[in-house]
Amino acid sequence: MQHQSFQIANLRNYLEKQKVSGEIIFDIELGQIKNSMPIKLTNYLMSLIDFNSFIEDPIRKQFLPFMSEFQTSHPMSLIDSLGEENSEVYDGIIHRYPTKLLFMIGVSCPSYCAFCTRSYAVGTKKGFSKKHITKPLSNRIEFLNLYFEKNPQINDIVISGGDISDVKIDVIEQIFEAIQKITTLRSIRIGTRGFLFCPDLFLPNTPMFNLLLKYSKIFQKQGKELSLQTHFNHPCEISNASEKSINYLMELGIVFRNQTVILKNINTDKTVMIDLVDKLINTKILPYYVFHMDSIPYAEHYRTTLKESIAVESEIMGRFPGFLTPRFSIDLPAGGGKKNLSSYSAYDDEKGRYLFKSPLINPQKDFFYYDPLHSLSPRQKEYWEKFKLVYYNE
Ligand SMILES: *Cc1c(COP(=O)(O)O)cnc(C)c1O
Ligand code: SF4
Repeated sequence: MQHQSFQIANLRNYLEKQKVSGEIIFDIELGQIKNSMPIKLTNYLMSLIDFNSFIEDPIRKQFLPFMSEFQTSHPMSLIDSLGEENSEVYDGIIHRYPTKLLFMIGVSCPSYCAFCTRSYAVGTKKGFSKKHITKPLSNRIEFLNLYFEKNPQINDIVISGGDISDVKIDVIEQIFEAIQKITTLRSIRIGTRGFLFCPDLFLPNTPMFNLLLKYSKIFQKQGKELSLQTHFNHPCEISNASEKSINYLMELGIVFRNQTVILKNINTDKTVMIDLVDKLINTKILPYYVFHMDSIPYAEHYRTTLKESIAVESEIMGRFPGFLTPRFSIDLPAGGGKKNLSSYSAYDDEKGRYLFKSPLINPQKDFFYYDPLHSLSPRQKEYWEKFKLVYYNE
């Protein structure tokens, strides 16, 4: 780990120097009390913020939320919205889709996104009880070996967050070493926001680069594809420094794909999403997914309605070559899996609720998604006011 963390104790001081008003600084400090994610940034990420438009800055909005921005969470929102803990086959190992396995490498990241879908586990926060990965790495690796032996149909592993850019090199190496022995694997994917948080961590001659160099060769020989899944939400996040690190890794034959989350007033403007997809294509990163935001508590103000997300999608569809057009998807609550945004089978106008079916995961079950409270008509709001607003923020 080589990235430099911004000292949160100096936050007030630093923002004052950048001429941020005392009122706004106080708003951030209060927000810190309410947010389920702790405030944590790298110095590098802080340097990307444009202090001339601090309030509207997309990085500020994702990493330094204001108390005044938080809204009452939807009564149906869930901290483990995707029901990952129900698909957990071992500590931090999630098996939902027949041929793929998700391995949580840790529960920390160099910076914390305030809308993190894994807030049920990621980012230790006082007053919030979160899932921890408690089993030693050796046990988890032993489990992996047995599990792949028993399930030879699994040919794809996603190593996800936490973030590898906050994990010790020797830990990553132990996992790569185990993975290279699994003959049934065809694809190794690593999800990381490291190219936003600390791109220099991946530059040539760093321990991370050397590790990726070594294993990209090994995996290539074995016919396993090594890919990195970046998470850029706004074109301003793809800096020259991130491009530089990404280019060096591409030269090793590592494949890059990006996943974006639709965030209200951050990338819902059509020109922002068009610019993002354009910039990804120019950087030779495949725009892989654009996800509708999951329904988690403490993040209501980031959520769009499903129809708003579909409107963003319709600005993108047809504009770029089909093979460079991202899939606009929703990961259904309660473990229903990923589906096309428009694939819901019914809309309940009283509740602002969409019904989805998921034949692959569970043909019998109904999966529901609820539009954010702030989008509902007075009549729809009235329906939800009957419920106890568990995460009321005022
Ligand atoms: C998203 C996800 C994957 C990977 O899915 P792709 O659509 O192939 O990118 C694997 N496992 C779980 C549990 C997931 O949520
Ligand atoms: S980098 Fe990923 S895992 Fe980490 S806080 Fe952000 S969304 Fe969550």
